[in-house]
Amino acid sequence: MYKTAIDYSFGLFIGGEWIEKDEKDTVLNKYTQEVFAKTAATEEQDVKRAVKSAKEAFSKPFSQYERYGVLLKVAQLLRSNQEEFARAIAEEVGKPITEARGEVERSALTLEISAEESKRIHGEEIPVQAAPGSENRKAFTRRYPVGIVAAITPFNVPLNLVCHKIGPAIAAGNSVILKPAEQTPVSSLLLTRLFEEAGLPKGRLSVLTGKGEDVGPLLTSNQEINMFTFTGSPKVGLLIREQAGLRNVALELGNNSATIVHNDADIEQAAKLVAQKSFNNAGQVCISVQRVYVHEEIYEEFLSKVCEATEQIKLGDPLEEDTQMGPMIAEEEAMRVERWVNEAVEAGAKVATGGARKGVFYHPTVLTNVNDNMKVCRQEVFGPVVAIDTYREEDEVITRVNDSDYGLQAGLFTNNMSFVMKAMDGIHVGGLIVNDTSGYRVDHMPYGGVKKSGTGKEGPRYAIEEMTEEKIIVLNN
Ligand code: NAD
Repeated sequence: MYKTAIDYSFGLFIGGEWIEKDEKDTVLNKYTQEVFAKTAATEEQDVKRAVKSAKEAFSKPFSQYERYGVLLKVAQLLRSNQEEFARAIAEEVGKPITEARGEVERSALTLEISAEESKRIHGEEIPVQAAPGSENRKAFTRRYPVGIVAAITPFNVPLNLVCHKIGPAIAAGNSVILKPAEQTPVSSLLLTRLFEEAGLPKGRLSVLTGKGEDVGPLLTSNQEINMFTFTGSPKVGLLIREQAGLRNVALELGNNSATIVHNDADIEQAAKLVAQKSFNNAGQVCISVQRVYVHEEIYEEFLSKVCEATEQIKLGDPLEEDTQMGPMIAEEEAMRVERWVNEAVEAGAKVATGGARKGVFYHPTVLTNVNDNMKVCRQEVFGPVVAIDTYREEDEVITRVNDSDYGLQAGLFTNNMSFVMKAMDGIHVGGLIVNDTSGYRVDHMPYGGVKKSGTGKEGPRYAIEEMTEEKIIVLNN
């Protein structure tokens, strides 16, 4: 039997100290299904302590240059410990080790960008003197940290999405309380140790592990928390929004991402990228390619190339260097994907390749003959399934892309400038990616959705805007 080399046990991290608990939750290696870590369960008094220490820390000076220094130091430490972090991510998520290494590198980058942005927080001059009667006045705005930010994160990108919240929150001068996903808390707890080593002042970061339905309401009901930043499912996002009341909430939610492949596209390149971005992390990515609309003139060639690339994907142990796709997060999730695919097939869809489940693995699957009302098209699959359909007219395909509750990102392969211009204005999403799939993201770009995909943007500069309050200062002489 496969044996994990590292076993972890963590307490809660509150006010700069690790608090041990008798009762522990277990974290499974998603491939072997063996316990590889234990984490503590948060209770009400822990949330109160975390909030108290966050408030105390917030009342003490922590200059922009000091924030820059700590964030940069953690980025450096992350890089020098890349292998331990990558291994933890591979085990807790089931993500291939090569992808996990990429996540660690991107996390370091996210912290580095946050460090840089901590020195660039500024307001602007407002020409109040232009108003009649205000000739003697001058005005400018300044940005102030909101205070205490609670960050709640999902399982699929457990380190980088945590960095996208902690990095900007600290850069902006806030105290932050993190609640990582219960399936994948290990990499964020290892990151917490690096913040400790880098000298982050006590109370500026607390990490409270446990089940979302237990810890979430303890956080939202605490009125001293000033802001919630959440990445996860629309269902939980809505709950948090309802419970937060008038407090600021940033929501990064789901999507059923579409990508269009037009008749002038580089078919080879588009097929390669679609196969890659449909099945990265077993399709458990919020911008995973789920709906592909291909112009009917190139459909056959495109489909055969996507299937060819898909069939080459090597499934296996995430810790093996040549594994390209690992298991899903849990067997129930693989079973749910299986049900959705079977339901689509009963309604007339065809499985071009894949369509099989083995325990927690679901094979990379390409569906054709789909219609937009099947669950595999209309809802978020969050699994390794892509549905490919044809279109004839530009306007028709734009309407179909928009016929979705979601709007995070979309992709469009074409060099036809008038189609690009039409899509740019007509597709209702947070980001349109031309000559690539919906799955493109770098960490300093503004990232976030419209409709049920959420509100607010991430990317350190944009997250800092969400996590600060703008104040206008008017000087009268
Ligand atoms: P989830 O909503 O089940 O869980 C996310 C977090 O919320 C976890 O930490 C969980 O413990 C917590 N939670 C659960 N119930 C809660 C409650 N009642 N109150 C407060 N917190 C609670 O999502 P998931 O399954 O971990 O992640 C998958 C979802 O995340 C998908 O919909 C995916 O599209 C989305 N996602 C979005 C982005 C983005 O940037 N837009 C990125 C990654 C994932």
